Amino acid sequence: MIKVEGTVKAVREQVKAWKKEGLSVGFVPTMGYLHEGHESLIKRAVKENDRVVVSIFVNPMQFGPTEDLASYPRDLEADKKLCDNAGANLIFHPEPEEMYDGGFCSFVDMNGLTNALCGLSRPVHFRGVCTVVNKLFNIVAPDKAYFGEKDAQQLAVIKRMVKDLNMDIEIVGCPIIREADGLAKSSRNTYLNAEERTAGLILSKSIFLGKKMVEDGERDAAKVKAAMVDLINTEPMANIDYVEIVDVNTMKNIDEIKGEILCAIAVGINGKARLIDNFMMTV
Ligand code: AMP
Repeated sequence: MIKVEGTVKAVREQVKAWKKEGLSVGFVPTMGYLHEGHESLIKRAVKENDRVVVSIFVNPMQFGPTEDLASYPRDLEADKKLCDNAGANLIFHPEPEEMYDGGFCSFVDMNGLTNALCGLSRPVHFRGVCTVVNKLFNIVAPDKAYFGEKDAQQLAVIKRMVKDLNMDIEIVGCPIIREADGLAKSSRNTYLNAEERTAGLILSKSIFLGKKMVEDGERDAAKVKAAMVDLINTEPMANIDYVEIVDVNTMKNIDEIKGEILCAIAVGINGKARLIDNFMMTV
């Protein structure tokens, strides 16, 4: 069974030993409760690197005070099996104290890409993400790191951070993995009962509608957004946080759909879960 390490020291020693042998290292950061979305990242990393490290860490710093840190689902035994079967070589699973000792006071933050979409309703989120990913990169020192397009703003933020801070790591974006009925796979789907899960399908339905409109030639962002909002509002359990179309490189709203665009949505379902979905396109 795959090895699980809880200390920075043990991970560093293992990675150093691999590098001494000339092996390349891929890295997949996660919060655990792994599903086929995570698995696709791990398998891609296994294909493209000699050794693969998966981190499982529910990072307190990226949760706001009223968010779901305490209830976030956890299942290390199932995660170990998934990582093992996917061909990963090591899990880094630290306790919060290993990552943040009592004197911790340094942060990585960003001014720009984070003042939009999820950054507006989750003001401390991306500072927590940038800080922990920076720490994990310093601990694992990977050649390549894998992130899902499911969290499109996060992917853009990480790419920008790596560029701005001259980190010698290649960031690889991987496509969204969905359930057969369209729902984007997410650890947070587990918060929903059967009826709420059905209501959650309104996210992917509106994403598919918006995508089709753009594919069919619609270039007016307001029209696409309005159609998506109208569709989401037909679902009584749905509560829209945002429906936006932005330039993927700046996260700024656009009126005319052209260039590299991201259409992203966040919708609460029955007050139980806040789900996100998106499509990206080059027009
Ligand atoms: P999380 O454990 O939710 O922090 O996610 C860890 C990584 O898995 C992030 O890079 C996510 O974007 C990615 N991920 C989560 N769900 C999916 C999905 N349905 N398809 C592709 N990637 C995903």
